[in-house]
Amino acid sequence: MPRHPLVPASSRQNRSLRGQISLQTTPRSCLPPVDRSKPWFPLAGSAMDGWSNEEEATATCFCGAVQLKFPTQGPGLVQSFICNCGDCHKITASMFASNFTIADSHLTHVRGRENLSTFSQSRTVASGNTMTNHFCKTCGTLMYRVSSGFPGKSILRIGTIDDFHLHETKLKPSVEMFIERRVAWLKGAEGVKQVEGSAL
Ligand SMILES: [Zn+2]
Ligand SMILES: [Zn+2]
Repeated sequence: MPRHPLVPASSRQNRSLRGQISLQTTPRSCLPPVDRSKPWFPLAGSAMDGWSNEEEATATCFCGAVQLKFPTQGPGLVQSFICNCGDCHKITASMFASNFTIADSHLTHVRGRENLSTFSQSRTVASGNTMTNHFCKTCGTLMYRVSSGFPGKSILRIGTIDDFHLHETKLKPSVEMFIERRVAWLKGAEGVKQVEGSAL
């Protein structure tokens, strides 16, 4: 499979320098357009060996021990969504989760499957399903959740995808759910369907 080489360090530097300048002096409208159809791998975490091509991409934990490979279109890619529920506040240690669902038949553990630890509970899940969370034992990144109510599917995290442009393009969420639980100082995601309660 063709692999896109990582962006060289010098190019990353230029990019972050441009970003800095744009924040301070250059109006956004004056910047050259960003080509989001091309992969971009910002410096993040320790591994820096993520890749993407037309059909597939990687998702890697913060320390690099765990890496997954997944399809970036259907039927393997089932859905991409934002969730504001109480569980998602806790498990992200933040105010929402950005997720995408992959059919297990299309999900590959590239490395580190043995480095995942799990935590399951059903008490806070409205449907009564048991949700099992799979974390990297080393760095704690939540790589995916699996619900007893949705067998054969894993719910991955958009933030673990190595190619940042996929966050904005193919993996952009189509729906935002549990909006009644969204913190008052956040607005709904732009161009994303807003739903109270679950949309799964
Ligand atoms: Zn890790
Ligand atoms: Zn949630």
